[in-house]
Amino acid sequence: MSHDPLYEIHDPRFKSLIVSSARLEELYSGCRWAEGPVWFDDANQLLWSDIPNQRILRWTPDGGVSVFRAHSNFSNGHTRDRQGRLVSCEHGLRRVTRTEIDGSITVLADSFEGRRLNSPNDVIVRSDGTVWFTDPTYGILSDYEGYRAEPEQPTRNVYRLDPTTGNLTAVVTDFLQPNGLAFSPDETVLYVADSGASHDDGAPRHIRAFDVKNGRILENPRVFALINSGIPDGFRLDLEGNLWSSAGDGVHCFAPDGTLIGKILVPQTVANLTFGGPRRNRLFIAATNSLYSIYVTATGAQMP
Ligand code: MG
Repeated sequence: MSHDPLYEIHDPRFKSLIVSSARLEELYSGCRWAEGPVWFDDANQLLWSDIPNQRILRWTPDGGVSVFRAHSNFSNGHTRDRQGRLVSCEHGLRRVTRTEIDGSITVLADSFEGRRLNSPNDVIVRSDGTVWFTDPTYGILSDYEGYRAEPEQPTRNVYRLDPTTGNLTAVVTDFLQPNGLAFSPDETVLYVADSGASHDDGAPRHIRAFDVKNGRILENPRVFALINSGIPDGFRLDLEGNLWSSAGDGVHCFAPDGTLIGKILVPQTVANLTFGGPRRNRLFIAATNSLYSIYVTATGAQMP
């Protein structure tokens, strides 16, 4: 174990993924609950959610921080589709939206089998354009991150949406609280966090893996990794298939075989992260009040 207060090295493999002299930079500190970072390489900007403050913030290397969207409907996770458009989860209106190039907003999904979604939390887009998102109840548990309501769905599902047909399918229905999700670099494996332990200590705090068959069916579910501090919320993978997860004490890095190989310790609870910068070698970390960043030698697997 290293004695650097920033890095915990559990396995030599982690050393080759970090820049030992790189330090954590606090880019902003005025959030109530930071989430959903997404990098726009073409605009050289990072967008992220400040959920309780109902806003999407924008950070640029030169211009600092500004409000990208006020009245964000308690937006949470974001991603970009294959055309570069912003795709967002909104707790407030319990929907997944796409922001068009002209700024107008298209609703991609807000109900399943005739009942409202719970509160979409995090979203990714596959290379075939399908939109995959999680639907836990966090955004309707209180009026802090959405509007308190009774769930209409009997389960908290992971969904696959085909935006060309509008066809919405529940691909997994047995999560307590599905949360962050991401594909392996070759998209043959889908990883999904279960953060059920947020409200029940005995509940799951792990990331599950599924084999993706024909781009639409999930098979062979297994627990990929347990989070030993706090809960897993959002995460991303690098080009080599290492998984970088949010956790209570920072960012945990897991090798493709599920071994915890190291941590970046962050002073606040981490909710989500993404790779950004022109070389996708800079981690942007949404952690409670703050947005942090740190350079690594790993490269983000795909945009966003
Ligand atoms: Mg989340």
